[in-house]
Amino acid sequence: MAAITVTPAPRPDAPRPDAARLPLPVLHSTVLGWYEANARELPWRTPEASPWAVMVSEFMLQQTPVKRVLPAWDAWMERWPTPAALAAEAPGEAVRMWGRLGYPRRALRLHAAAVAITEEHGGEVPDDHATLLSLPGVGEYTAAAVASFAFRQRHVVLDTNVRRVFARAVTGVEYPAQATTAAERRTATTLLPDDRETAATWAVAVMELGALVCTARGPECGGCPLVAGCAWQRAGCPPYEGPARRGQSYEGTDRQVRGKLLAVLRAEHGTVEQARLDAVWPDAVQRARALDGLVADGLVEPVGPGVYRLPQ
Ligand code: SF4
Repeated sequence: MAAITVTPAPRPDAPRPDAARLPLPVLHSTVLGWYEANARELPWRTPEASPWAVMVSEFMLQQTPVKRVLPAWDAWMERWPTPAALAAEAPGEAVRMWGRLGYPRRALRLHAAAVAITEEHGGEVPDDHATLLSLPGVGEYTAAAVASFAFRQRHVVLDTNVRRVFARAVTGVEYPAQATTAAERRTATTLLPDDRETAATWAVAVMELGALVCTARGPECGGCPLVAGCAWQRAGCPPYEGPARRGQSYEGTDRQVRGKLLAVLRAEHGTVEQARLDAVWPDAVQRARALDGLVADGLVEPVGPGVYRLPQ
């Protein structure tokens, strides 16, 4: 395979990235062919999956691996197959069902999005990017992902997996910047197939390549369809030289304490006394800080002195 070269007629909104060196048709057919042969069968990727099913999966997958999302997504869709079904229940039920997926504010945001869809959009997930972006909890990534995967539209979908593949294969660095840059977005725009159906498959195919092959810590370059044209490989796999990358520590953090406190509240369908919350963590200062944070985030409601419940 030749080095990755971007050779389409330049689009006014998409300057050519300097490092890309693979002809686009070859790049597209290579990645799309790999995806066809290797894609995981996931329920939110089936033709039967509703836009709501896709949206729920995108909320859950933002910071949680597929393996942990699968059972939670199944249970969620079983209980709330439509936005209206979720909107009819209290936000605390969404927090309860979120279980141990982590970052539970996503549950509140998904509930708020379901309410907005029900009250302002006739119960149907909007199909245009701008309206999706106006929903609570829906940022640039989620709006582009839902528009692409549920409605087969042409959008740049930049998650951590896609950004890592482009950083290595196109730019020649091991990891992308901490936050998405304008240059990355230009590169991704230039690489996006023109045809909307192909673009939608391209978006999920690059994402899958990052999730299964070009992984964060152990890229399997020997089995990668892009190995011969990969800029990072061609450069001799130079080590990352950017600022220290954020770790994923959990033990002993406020996140862990919040998880323990929420677990007590999720298991209880009424109110919970302070003494039961006090039992989950020995450090009173950290425990109080975590509980205050949960209340401030709207994940826990104080209903009286030392009495709490999930939000109603
Ligand atoms: S060759 Fe290796 S680094 Fe390059 S895109 Fe493939 S897996 Fe990633």
